[in-house]
Amino acid sequence: MATALCDEHKPKDSEHVSYALPLGYPSTAVTCDVVGCANPARVWLTADERKAFRAGERLFTIGGGTRVRVSDDLFPN
Ligand SMILES: [Zn+2]
Repeated sequence: MATALCDEHKPKDSEHVSYALPLGYPSTAVTCDVVGCANPARVWLTADERKAFRAGERLFTIGGGTRVRVSDDLFPN
């Protein structure tokens, strides 16, 4: 499942391999998942989600079941 984390709190696992930006980033409603952090978040994707992104998917589920719509850019591409 995708995770929403800011620049200061990047994923510390090998599962999340790419990120996409939520619509409007950095003026986005999506904020970092770390308690006490209110920074705008990037949406970090698993390998399967990256594959879906490349196939055109732009809605991703993050913790709690919320889906976030991302823009058309993928990093690293
Ligand atoms: Zn953060």
